[in-house]
Amino acid sequence: MNTSVKPLKLFIIEDNETDIAVVRRLIQSSKQNILLDSSTRLKEGIKQILENQYDLLLLDLSLPDGHGLDALVQFKSKSVHIPVVILTSTDDRVVASIAIRQGAQDYIVKESITAASLLHSIHYAIERKAVENALETERSNFHSIVEMINEGIVVATLDRRVQFINRAAEHFLQTDRIQLINAPFPFKIEDGEFFEIPIQRLNGNFGSGICHTLKTDWMGQEARLIMIRDITVEKAAEQMKDAFLQNVSHELRTPLTSIRESIAQVSEGLHGEINDKQDRYLSLCLNNVDYLKRTVDDLLDISKLEAARFELNKTSFDFRDLVKTITLSFKSPAVSKNIQLDKSLPKSPVIVEADRDKITRVLMNIIGNALKFTEEGSIHISIKKKIDHLECCISDTGLGISKEDLPHVFDKFVQFGKLSLTHEIGTGLGLSISKALIELHNGKIWVESELNKGSQFYFTLPVIK
Ligand code: ADP
Repeated sequence: MNTSVKPLKLFIIEDNETDIAVVRRLIQSSKQNILLDSSTRLKEGIKQILENQYDLLLLDLSLPDGHGLDALVQFKSKSVHIPVVILTSTDDRVVASIAIRQGAQDYIVKESITAASLLHSIHYAIERKAVENALETERSNFHSIVEMINEGIVVATLDRRVQFINRAAEHFLQTDRIQLINAPFPFKIEDGEFFEIPIQRLNGNFGSGICHTLKTDWMGQEARLIMIRDITVEKAAEQMKDAFLQNVSHELRTPLTSIRESIAQVSEGLHGEINDKQDRYLSLCLNNVDYLKRTVDDLLDISKLEAARFELNKTSFDFRDLVKTITLSFKSPAVSKNIQLDKSLPKSPVIVEADRDKITRVLMNIIGNALKFTEEGSIHISIKKKIDHLECCISDTGLGISKEDLPHVFDKFVQFGKLSLTHEIGTGLGLSISKALIELHNGKIWVESELNKGSQFYFTLPVIK
């Protein structure tokens, strides 16, 4: 017998002493380093197993104090994580499969037992249980992480029935998970959606959460993973920043207007003649004051737009007329840059109900950018009439935008390192304002572009039929 390795410690609970003796003999005949302790009663056996460390339990199912699968259930309820092999005199497939489902590793019928089959069963049961325990540890580690994080996590079926919910989500939604499992998730769960919901914060106060929904798999079926993040503090900071921006821009506007007016008067010679050098310096001042004023105006607008304090002054007009007027105003700068500027418009009127000034601003910004960032070639403006909206496209053959920069084009204060060819300084706010204005009109705005090939800016607006 090899005594250098640690012996395997087995325990058998079996009311028949003869059967215990048979098992002991079979084990001894294998000449392996195996110890076998036994008990003829379930309760006594469990007690001994709990007090000592065993590698495996051989369990009979017809014990005086534990009959049938009840013996297994009683043993499992003590949460002893050792493998169990059922040893029984009844060859019952149904009982065997229930026993396996309830956590037994194997089911051996005493009559057909041999030393080899018993040892195989013991070794495989121990191996399997070790793998099971490792998986269970991993599962429970993941479970505690998911339970501990302050981000709410919910999994729901496509028809919104909740399948899983973690502690944070339970708290945010102020519901007990028992009530929520299988009940409908109280908000929409479209894939890729971001939306805001009222939540109860982890500190007990009420606030705002942002839900982000993603496609996932759950039990082999397509489902939705909903992540909920507490954004109350971020929102408050955002509101403070908006208020600050608004105050600062307001305070800057008045003095800037008066500075501009004074420089313009001096520059025009209204207060005495000026020489060429003075004129150059004054023009430089004027350009910079204009840039500052644009920045302040943009800042004020973006803060108003974000705070949803922007009022639209809607009227009905033919969108084609607006495009014609704006294209005309860009004709001369386009000609001076040797860029072809043209348009294609539908034959019939395209009536929109919109704030003409705001849409003018969007078009001026996009066409202005196209002109700024195009060295040679053309700019084309087109309008397509769709069922309930128009689609306007401003396409240029200019510098284009790289794949990496493309998702950030409509972000605030974004400029992609390249100077416009005329070195005009922008504020990096124009497109974010345009996006907000178009969305305020229930339209959409997007861009397609390729570096060094050109860009196509699209937006839609609802039309009146
Ligand atoms: P800016 O005031 O800088 O023009 P915008 O928000 O209007 O601010 O534009 C942001 C940035 O997007 C620009 O600085 C430029 O880098 C890029 N961009 C916008 N339109 C175009 C275009 N037609 N071609 C190439 N780049 C563009």
